[in-house]
Amino acid sequence: MDTNRTLTGRRALVTGGARGIGAAIARRLAADGACVVIADLDVEEGRRLAADIGAAAVQLDVTELLQVGEVIDSHGPFDILVNNAGMDQHAFFTQTTADDWRRLLAVNLESVFATTHAVLPHMQGAGYGRIINIASEAGRLGSRGGAVYAAAKGGVIAFTRSIARENGRKGITANVVAPGPIDTPMLREAVARGGERLMGTMTGATLAGRLGTPDEVAAATAFLASDAAGFITGEILGVSGGMGCGA
Ligand code: NDP
Repeated sequence: MDTNRTLTGRRALVTGGARGIGAAIARRLAADGACVVIADLDVEEGRRLAADIGAAAVQLDVTELLQVGEVIDSHGPFDILVNNAGMDQHAFFTQTTADDWRRLLAVNLESVFATTHAVLPHMQGAGYGRIINIASEAGRLGSRGGAVYAAAKGGVIAFTRSIARENGRKGITANVVAPGPIDTPMLREAVARGGERLMGTMTGATLAGRLGTPDEVAAATAFLASDAAGFITGEILGVSGGMGCGA
């Protein structure tokens, strides 16, 4: 999938776009010609990246539902929505608390409701839209030590397919990208806490036997955002070295 400015004239919102996978997606969509808005908690990092790639950056906590609407009203309308902001937690379920559940669901799932709710009226009016939700292979395989995270990502998958069903005849596609272990700050922080054995477990779970790169997730996302993917909706595209093979 070569960069060939397939997204010229499109306006894209990338949540959590300041670092990791989101930063690679923002960079790739901008390279493909989209006008990109990076929305992240860390607006300084977002601004640095935006200056580098010719994008805009705005501070947004995706769990603040009113703020989500305001940002989309003031920086939209958007043709492409990439829900990428997320957080994980490595703990066995019995060690988690109700506060953990609420936070994980708010960041990984409720935020997707809020952004989608805010962008859909414009997309429906325009008869065009691309919604790409970055879930996780954990959302279809489950996760030992990440039950609530996996449940939230499973919710993202079911939600995405429902949005695809409701909007299929309105020119709007909604798809999931499901990464496996990808070399990002989030993964490095988990390995720092869990030790090198965790790294071995993660790479061993892929058929490829390695971590993926943020650029590999970005390439899949850019394809789903393009006109070429107009007949693909309600799908889960694993970018996981074959981890989800058969799921
Ligand atoms: P990172 O933590 O490296 O980057 C996530 C970005 O999202 C950060 O810039 C972070 O800001 C931002 N963010 C977090 N919470 C919020 C919030 N409430 N509002 C706005 N922005 C927020 O994560 P990755 O790049 O690794 O992950 C990106 C997505 O991919 C996530 O949805 C994750 O669940 C998913 N994923 C990642 C995998 C991996 O192996 N890396 C595997 C499977 C799925 P800040 O730095 O300020 O916290």
